[in-house]
Amino acid sequence: MKHLAKKRFGQNFLTDQAIIGSLIDAINPKTEEIIVEIGPGLGALTKPLLKKFKHLHVVEIDRDIVSWMQNEYAKNSITIHNVDALKFDFASLGKQLRVVGNLPYNISTPILFHLLDNVSHITDMHFMLQKEVVERMVASPSTAAYGRLSVMLQYHLAMEYLITVPPESFDPAPKVESAFVRCVPHATLPFVANDALVFANVVLKAFGQRRKTLRNTLKGLLDDDGFAALNISSQLRAENLSVADFVRISNYLI
Ligand code: SAH
Repeated sequence: MKHLAKKRFGQNFLTDQAIIGSLIDAINPKTEEIIVEIGPGLGALTKPLLKKFKHLHVVEIDRDIVSWMQNEYAKNSITIHNVDALKFDFASLGKQLRVVGNLPYNISTPILFHLLDNVSHITDMHFMLQKEVVERMVASPSTAAYGRLSVMLQYHLAMEYLITVPPESFDPAPKVESAFVRCVPHATLPFVANDALVFANVVLKAFGQRRKTLRNTLKGLLDDDGFAALNISSQLRAENLSVADFVRISNYLI
């Protein structure tokens, strides 16, 4: 099919067969699993996945691609959900989902947060994203890439940076480098926030002004006594705190 890539849908189609092969190897699909692909596009991942799976769910927003897919694939091999992945109810597909996708980069952070809402239904996730985003996802405390995304995702997920992918592996080539990442929900949370909203709010406030000290960013939430009780210096910045520290602060507040 002659399909003109649509910028508004973040369409950068993977074309590098060697890279595609290593992504499929990393996903390591087993036939009996429930797999859902976000943004199948013209099938760079869908087609090799269909060689390994009897059936695949795909979530695709672009109607032109959906009508192409309806002719391209055997009906019983693929269930097409023609909706915005941000609104899709992933939990409706089952309890042990494997989620994959070369994600539209313009909405990658909201998609990650949306999937977190369904994390109890997910076995693992493999995504292609901007390299810079993957670096933020896996970052350790006290590094420049460490921020709200790192803390919120690492709370729920173990993540592994797998493969760097250059712009030339796509058509059209994106402006930036990409990377493939594996995310596996923790079987048991290493640190449990007693109130998820309080935790999210502390992380949001602390990183709201990342150059300011915690004394400033958490003003109104945590006073000197609080910092002392937690044995956390108020002179630190958000980027110096581990996920465990954020959990301790939020549990102290409730
Ligand atoms: N997986 C293909 C295509 C990647 S491009 C490949 O690797 O070549 C990103 C894909 O996500 C496109 O098919 C685009 O139409 C789709 N997409 C963009 N925004 C979306 C959204 N909100 N929900 C679902 N799919 C979306």
